[in-house]
Amino acid sequence: MNAEVVTIGTELLLGEIVDTNAVHIARQLRTIGLDLHYMTTVGDNLERIARVIDIALNRVDVVITSGGLGPTVDDVTREGVAKATGRPLVFSPELLEQIRAFFDRIGRQMSENNRRQAYIPAGAIPVPNPVGSAPAFIVETERGVVISLPGVPREMKYLLETAVLPYLRDRFHLQAVIKTRLLRTVAAGESAIDAAIADLMELTNPTVGLAAHPGQTDIRITAKAPSEEEADALIAPVEAEIRKRLGDVIYGVDEERVEDVVARLLGERGWQVGIAWVGPDCHVVERLRAAGVEARVFPAVPPFPVRTEEEALEWARRLRESGGVDVAAVIVAVSDGDEAYTVMAVVAPTGERSARLTYRAFAEYRKQWVANVVLDLIRRLAMSPTS
Ligand code: ATP
Ligand code: MG
Repeated sequence: MNAEVVTIGTELLLGEIVDTNAVHIARQLRTIGLDLHYMTTVGDNLERIARVIDIALNRVDVVITSGGLGPTVDDVTREGVAKATGRPLVFSPELLEQIRAFFDRIGRQMSENNRRQAYIPAGAIPVPNPVGSAPAFIVETERGVVISLPGVPREMKYLLETAVLPYLRDRFHLQAVIKTRLLRTVAAGESAIDAAIADLMELTNPTVGLAAHPGQTDIRITAKAPSEEEADALIAPVEAEIRKRLGDVIYGVDEERVEDVVARLLGERGWQVGIAWVGPDCHVVERLRAAGVEARVFPAVPPFPVRTEEEALEWARRLRESGGVDVAAVIVAVSDGDEAYTVMAVVAPTGERSARLTYRAFAEYRKQWVANVVLDLIRRLAMSPTS
């Protein structure tokens, strides 16, 4: 069984709103083990909506649409589904009553164009909407099922949860859950990780994939099984194998941020951190603060020119000694003619670490990357045994 989500709305194509409905539906489908194969977005145009649904019916079992069920003439999802499924729209007195009842409940007058919302494709199963005016509906055809939900996120979520997911579970005897575990790394190159676990990325259940962000690479393990426990059991040995190969490159799992891990380790050690940086603003201090660690900030005045990792380390050693902190970190952005790079050094009671980063990208990405590397250097030193 597989599905396609079709989000409908010209404002999505204009980039005026973000398609959060598609993301929500995608996550919900995982909980019932229905594989999502495609996400499509189309504007409020009858012909194109019909064409997109027709294409979807040719390639998946379940098509879920969102949007375009409102009362106005630019809401044409009903017509689009009718056209794609070759059925006329028929008036449902029962749905009209429900729409009337909704307006009564909220103490407003139903307008004449709300009658449009009482039309659904012939033979469709109506899905009453107690939280809005637009009823949803399900059309079962020989080619597959089309389920149309309203675009207003609150209404869409409510109907998906209370009506659509139970319907899909029953109708298709779905029992599987899809579960994902993220193993998170920072400051390790995506290609190095890719090389280390390339063979595991050929697996089919669980599947293993990479997601890269600036200075951060997540390894995603996704399993499909009849229950959450069985999914966990499929994930566990693959996770163990990846951990064996990558070791302490993995700093955490799922939602954990590297600064949270650093904050926990610093707390355990009772270490105070001090930071000095030369160059554009530094995200390390604010990220540590967001994780509950107040770092000391030293003046950005190196006692000698700093262009290399060794010079950065020497400055950090001096700061640590004179500044009365347990961990001193320094970050220096160097521009050397054509070459621009950042050197970073951290000195702690357990040892010293440094890094050099040459990274040509948007300044914002570079700052995130630098912060990730520095936080990771601190993390590794805080994990090392005291020498
Ligand atoms: P209505 O009865 O309100 O007209 P509708 O089913 O016609 O409902 P739309 O008109 O397409 O839905 O969308 C209503 C509102 O819901 C939009 O203005 C937008 O704010 C939000 N919305 C629609 N689609 C999405 C989406 N895919 N992701 C996030 N928000 C959305
Ligand atoms: Mg609308």
